[in-house]
Amino acid sequence: MTQVGVNGYGTIGKRVADAVVAQPDMELVGVAKTRPNFEAETAARKGYPLYAAVPDRADRFEEEGLALAGTVDDLVAASDVVVDCTPSGIGAENRALYADHDTPAVFQGGEDADVADVSFNARGNYAEAVGADSARVVSCNTTGLSRILTPLDETYGVEKARVTLVRRGGDPGQTGRGPIDDILPDPVTIPSHHGPDVNTILPDVDIDTLGMKVPATLMHTHSVNVTLEEAVDAADVIDLFEDERRLFLVPPGADIDGAGKLKEFADDAGRPRGDLWENCIWEESITVEGRDCYLFQAIHQESDVVPENVDAVRALRGDADAEASMTTTEESMGIGLDYRG
Ligand code: NAD
Repeated sequence: MTQVGVNGYGTIGKRVADAVVAQPDMELVGVAKTRPNFEAETAARKGYPLYAAVPDRADRFEEEGLALAGTVDDLVAASDVVVDCTPSGIGAENRALYADHDTPAVFQGGEDADVADVSFNARGNYAEAVGADSARVVSCNTTGLSRILTPLDETYGVEKARVTLVRRGGDPGQTGRGPIDDILPDPVTIPSHHGPDVNTILPDVDIDTLGMKVPATLMHTHSVNVTLEEAVDAADVIDLFEDERRLFLVPPGADIDGAGKLKEFADDAGRPRGDLWENCIWEESITVEGRDCYLFQAIHQESDVVPENVDAVRALRGDADAEASMTTTEESMGIGLDYRG
C-alpha cells in the first residue's frame, strides 16, 4: 500500500484525495490545510486526517473545533509520496520540505516545468516518470491536448498543430476572477505558453497555441486544427479516439451544445462534483479536409488532471506500467462515459 499525503486541499487537492482513497493500492495519510475553512470541514467530515500547513496557525483549527493530526512536516514524513496541490508557485517553495524528508513528490501544472524531474501525462510519457523523484502533472489544458495529440502523432504523424484555447475566466468558486463582461486575447502575444508546455510531454510535436479568456466558469473549449502527415477520413479519427482512454465523444443527437449541458450530463450520470475527467470532443466537429483535421473539445479544468495525479504516484513508485496504472485508476474512479450503456 502506498501511503499518499496531499498538501493543499482546494479545487485539485480535494479531488486528488478522493481519488487516492478510491485506489486499491493506496492509502490517504491525510491532507494539509492552511485555514480551517469549509474545505477543512469537508475533509474532517470525510474522515481525512487534517494537518496544519502553517504550524503557527494550528490553534485556529482547534478554535473551529477541527482536530489536527499534526503539521505538514508530520504529513510528509508519514507519506511514501506527497501530492502538492498548493497554489501556483507555492509548490516550488515546498520542494525543499519534500527533499528534506526524501519523499517523492507530484507537483501541479501551475508550477514551472523545472520544479520536477519530469513533466507528466499518463498517455503521453508515463514511462519517463518511472522511478523519478518528482513529476509535474501538466495543466488541465496541456493534459487535454496531450491526450489527443499523442494518438494522432503515433498513428498518422502530426506535421503541425494549431490550437485556440477559449479559457474560462475562473473556477466557479473563484469569485474574484474575471473578465465578467469582456472577451480577452490572453495572452495577447502569440504563441501562448500552452504550446511549449505540450512540448514538455511531446517534444517533437510542432504546435502553436493562441489563448483567450471569456466570462465563463464551467470549462475550457479548444478549437483544434492538426495537419497530419497523411490524408485520412474523419471516420478513421473517430475510430481512433473511440479506442482511446479518457476521451468522451459527445454523440450527435445528444443535444449537448456546450459546457452547461456537459456538466448537467455529468451530474445526471452521478459524477462526484459533476466532474468530467475525460476530454469532451464533439463527434460532429471532427472534420478532415485532406490532411487537416479539425475538432472542438471541452476540458473540465477542475478534474481532468485528477486521474493523471494518481498515475503519477504509481509511476514515481515504479509500481505499474502505464496500461496497468491507467486501468486501475479508471476502474476505481469510474472513468469512461458510456453514452448508451
Ligand atoms: P486552490 O486555490 O483551489 O487550492 C489550493 C489550496 O492550497 C487552498 O486550499 C489553499 O488554502 C492551500 N494553500 C495555500 N498555501 C498553502 C501552503 N503553503 N501549504 C499548503 N496549502 C496551501 O488551487 P487549485 O485550483 O487547486 O490549484 C492548485 C494547483 O493545481 C495549481 O498549481 C494550479 O495551477 C493547478 N491546476 C489548477 C486547475 C484549476 O482549474 N483549478 C487545473 C489544473 C491545474
